[in-house]
Amino acid sequence: MVATPEIPVAARSKYEPVIGLEVHVQLLTATKIFCSCSTRFGAPPNTNVCPVCLGLPGALPVLNRKAVEFAVLAATALNCRINETSIFARKNYFYPDLPKGYQISQYDRPLAEHGWIEIAAGGVKKKIGITRVHLEEDAGKSLHEGFPDSGEKTAIDLNRSGVPLIEIVSEPDLASPNEAHEYLTRLKEIILYTAVSDCNMEEGSLRCDANVSVRPRGQKEFGTKTEIKNVNSFRFISQALEYEIDRHIGVIESGGKITQETRLFNSTEGKTYGMRSKEQAHDYRYFPEPDLLPLVVDEKWKAEISQQLPELPEARRQRLVRDYAITEYDAGVLTASKSLADQFEAAARTAKSPKRVANLVQSELMGRLKAKGVEIEQSPISMKGVAMSADLVEAGAISGKMLKDLYDLAFTRNKDFPTVYEEEGRPEQSHDTSALEKIITEIIAANPKQVEQYRSGKKTVLGFFVGQVMKASKGQANPQLVNELLAKKLN
Ligand SMILES: [Zn+2]
Repeated sequence: MVATPEIPVAARSKYEPVIGLEVHVQLLTATKIFCSCSTRFGAPPNTNVCPVCLGLPGALPVLNRKAVEFAVLAATALNCRINETSIFARKNYFYPDLPKGYQISQYDRPLAEHGWIEIAAGGVKKKIGITRVHLEEDAGKSLHEGFPDSGEKTAIDLNRSGVPLIEIVSEPDLASPNEAHEYLTRLKEIILYTAVSDCNMEEGSLRCDANVSVRPRGQKEFGTKTEIKNVNSFRFISQALEYEIDRHIGVIESGGKITQETRLFNSTEGKTYGMRSKEQAHDYRYFPEPDLLPLVVDEKWKAEISQQLPELPEARRQRLVRDYAITEYDAGVLTASKSLADQFEAAARTAKSPKRVANLVQSELMGRLKAKGVEIEQSPISMKGVAMSADLVEAGAISGKMLKDLYDLAFTRNKDFPTVYEEEGRPEQSHDTSALEKIITEIIAANPKQVEQYRSGKKTVLGFFVGQVMKASKGQANPQLVNELLAKKLN
């Protein structure tokens, strides 16, 4: 639970939050941005290092071409304008995990600017501006625990030093913690589609800082902002923002002033704490990196990179709705990851009826997943399984009722459809007329009242008989055949 300070609703509604996000995304290059050391996560400490990323005197950086390509690809997917010339700059500060005493980043001439992504905010689409996307190197990592002498000492692991990052800075266009959450979800989805990062938050491949302020509704000027640093889940970012917005309102309402500062979120307590006064850009003494040439991405290179851009989630959602006549909601679920959308489309394309695959996903799979509380990625029934079941129904081999039963078994046993289908001995719906005729004769004999109703013109009673026959055949009968035989017998 978030321990928000007590703010009366009336006071809260007087103010409007203004939120901007800075997202760091680690690029999936094999080697670091300015040297050929491996970027592999989880290697023993200080094994992926060299004079460049250790910051030894005289070592010179060489820019990784792949990192530039990934950054341009991501920025293009975020609708940014790619600057033909961008400049690397030194951002000077001291930290134990930054051996050079500066980080190579980009400052007044970043790689890309003026982008946007679209989010759904309370049922309406809203464009969130992206101020810039720039390239930079990561710092190392201070380890405060995990060693026998951790009580007295801090260890430094420089494997991460020099790993390529892009920083994606949003405009202060987000007006609530919900919008911030939605923005991050959409942003992550887009980055994952471009495959330039795995966006793994536990491993730090995606990190987010949030800037937040409040202002009286209708006021143009921004209030004083605070920055919340290094929150490691989207849910915690929403919580931290909620807490921080209420804190701002509380301070202002009681006549106080917000100090510009950097704060940390304690997820156990649901509170933020002041960490340090917020540094200004001039504190970093940025200047152009003298050891690197200006980065030039000309039209030809830019065009080559854009060709690798896959169909992005929003476009794909719209196409799936169009091509397979599924709901927007289901298209949203099916495009949650590129691999899932690929699987769905592959299954739908090879199946006899793509529409039936889509229908089964919508009518039989989603509800069961929801009831079980699992995501579609953990579904016991794969898209291939759905396609197989769709073909069996299409061919008349199994009935809709049998399919439902097999899906239930697949979920109970946590096994895929083809496995359950085999385990159940490849059940088939009955096309055996003589057995069915016997059942029908019995049911007609047992229900004289309904027979009379039917014969006196109440044809809807047929449905009752079909139901009885299906039940007696344990759902194995072919409904069409049952209908035909019943009609014949009753007339
Ligand atoms: Zn290195």
